[in-house]
This record gives sequence, C-alpha cells and structure tokens, in this order.
Amino acid sequence: MIFDFEIYSPVQQIKHPLLDEKQLKVFIKRDDMIHPVISGNKWRKLKYTLEAAYSAGKTHLVTFGGAYSNHLLATAAAAAKFGFKSTGFVRGEEVSNDTLFLCKLHGMHLIFVDRESYRDKQALFNTYFANDSFAYFINEGGASAEAARGCSELIAELPQVYDHLFCACGTGTTAAGILNGLQHLPTLFHAVPVLKGGEFIADEIKQYVKHNPIYELHIQYHFGGYAKTTPELIDFIKAFVIDTGIIIEPVYTGKMMYALFDLARKNHFKPGSSILAIHTGGLFGLLGMKEKFLL
Ligand SMILES: *Cc1c(COP(=O)(O)O)cnc(C)c1O
Repeated sequence: MIFDFEIYSPVQQIKHPLLDEKQLKVFIKRDDMIHPVISGNKWRKLKYTLEAAYSAGKTHLVTFGGAYSNHLLATAAAAAKFGFKSTGFVRGEEVSNDTLFLCKLHGMHLIFVDRESYRDKQALFNTYFANDSFAYFINEGGASAEAARGCSELIAELPQVYDHLFCACGTGTTAAGILNGLQHLPTLFHAVPVLKGGEFIADEIKQYVKHNPIYELHIQYHFGGYAKTTPELIDFIKAFVIDTGIIIEPVYTGKMMYALFDLARKNHFKPGSSILAIHTGGLFGLLGMKEKFLL
C-alpha cells in the first residue's frame, strides 16, 4: 500500500515593483495547491508517517495540536482519504472554529485537554490508548524523521536551481528536510521562524540533517510570537494578495514573505539573484483571524 497521490505544486514567478527595482527574480512553489485541506508541507510531512503506521499494522492515527492547527486538519483529512480512523488531542478548553469543524467533518474524534496535561503527549496517548493496539502516535506538528524525509522530496521537483530558498518554520522539521534535499546544490537556505526565540530551529535542523548545512536563520520576523500579528504584517499581507493574486496568511507564509521582501528592500541579495519561496499552505489559519483584517 502506497500512501501517495499525484500532486500539483507548480513554481510561479512573482511580479512586484520592488523586485524589479532590486533586479531580483522571485518565484513561489505552490505547495498550497497540493490539496484543499492537506495543504503544503503537512502532506509532505504525513506521507511517510502514514506508511510507517500502515507497516506497523496501525489503523488509527492519534495526534495533537492547538485549536487552529493545520497539522490536526491535515491528519483528519489524510486519515479519511486513506482509510484510517483519527483522534486529535486539542490543547485548551473546548471551543468550536472552522478548523475544528473541518476536522470533525473528516471524522476526527476530538479530545480537549487542559494545557498542563497537554504537555506530556506520550502520557495522554498511554492514558487513552494503552489498550488500542491499532492506535499510532503522531507527534504535534507531525515532527519526525519520516516528516523530514517527505519534505526533502520537494527539491527534486524544482525546474531550476535557485540562488536562495525561503521557508517558514514552526518546529523546523520542514526546514531540515529541505536542507537535506539541498545538500549538493549551491542554493542558500533561509529559515524564517514564526515563533519568538527561533534560535531553537538550529537544534531541530541538527537533529535531522546529517551533513553540516549552511543557512541563514532570520529570527527577527516573529511579530511578537506564534500566531501574533501587527498592523504592519496585516497590511503587507493585504497588499501582497492584491498585487499577486496569491493568498498568504499571518501565521506562517505571511511572515516568511515579509522577511523576503524586507531583506530585498535592505539589499540583502545580489542583483540578478533568483529566490524561491515555499508556499507551505495553511490558508485555513486565515479564517481564524478575519477580525484583524478590518475588511
Ligand atoms: C506547519 C506549517 C509550517 C511549519 O512547518 P514545520 O515543519 O513545523 O517547521 C509552515 N507553514 C505552514 C503553512 C504550516 O502549516
């Protein structure tokens, strides 16, 4: 059994006066187009995890996330698509929102747990599923060696070699996978952590990358922390969507794209450089933040 489907993730050029002025060619890899809800890196991260679950004879995916987690939703949809049951432990008190609605629509059983209990995920799994020999533990955000392996495959799909490559980082697993894929290419990788204190991404990269990769870690684009925004970030996102017709959101891709444009403005790249940004998906995150856009 192979957990795979033919994916569509084209590379498109982004046109913008600032990029013309700085003589930069900027492209975006549309991983957001892979699937409407198993979007972007979340599909790449799950692919080999599903295979590992299946090989171990497991039929029930159990995972963890916040109430707006793209990973929870991707797991729910992938479970439905490939014939698994799914359970999601959700951090915090019971709430309802668009993400959790779509999780339930795909048949995911949701268990809300307080923040204290949420910390020990293995203990939660053991408490609820010690007697379920079909249950398979998937860590929060899907972080694992299988996930990094799935993400590394993105590089082989690229139509050309770029001078720079940008990706938003939560756990850093996607970044690690991409760095593995880039090992023999002259592309400089740029990691943009969306959490405050993004230095920890370096540890995540060390865990999954066996060679000694060269990359830039831009830790100053968190805008106050995970899922935090500022009016400046929101204005940037609004203008970007209007200028390009490509939707980005405030939690991940908005911060990554802001970093790219800000560095371009500050002449961080040589004129003539080619830059690829990975659109890691996650558009449902936008629906939880409508009130910040004042439209
Ligand atoms: C989860 C997610 C990321 C971060 O991926 P990590 O592997 O955890 O670093 C980036 N972008 C989007 C849209 C995501 O949903």
